[in-house]
Amino acid sequence: MAFNPEYCPKCGKVLVPKKGVLFCKRCNYEKPKTANASFISKTEQKKSEMPILEGNIQLLPTTNAKCPECGNNVAYWEMKQTRAADESPTRFLTCTKCGFRWRRYE
Ligand SMILES: [Zn+2]
Ligand SMILES: [Zn+2]
Repeated sequence: MAFNPEYCPKCGKVLVPKKGVLFCKRCNYEKPKTANASFISKTEQKKSEMPILEGNIQLLPTTNAKCPECGNNVAYWEMKQTRAADESPTRFLTCTKCGFRWRRYE
């Protein structure tokens, strides 16, 4: 069986299994083994025309953005083109933790 190593998101060292978590020896980062794959990085750029899915927000891609409400670092995002053609699209962000919504201009 092939061992598929996971790497520490903080320092890049290979994580080692320890009591149900993956553990970084260098910086003590711990990651639960059963972490759900909520990070979508490859498809993030292409899905700019994703429809707004109210009440079904789990399907939206996530990005690294700091929530102004709770300080969480992951948010769902969706792109909306404003009516004025000379305005740049607006990125709407929704905190994965507390659900707070805010917008960011690109
Ligand atoms: Zn580390
Ligand atoms: Zn939040």
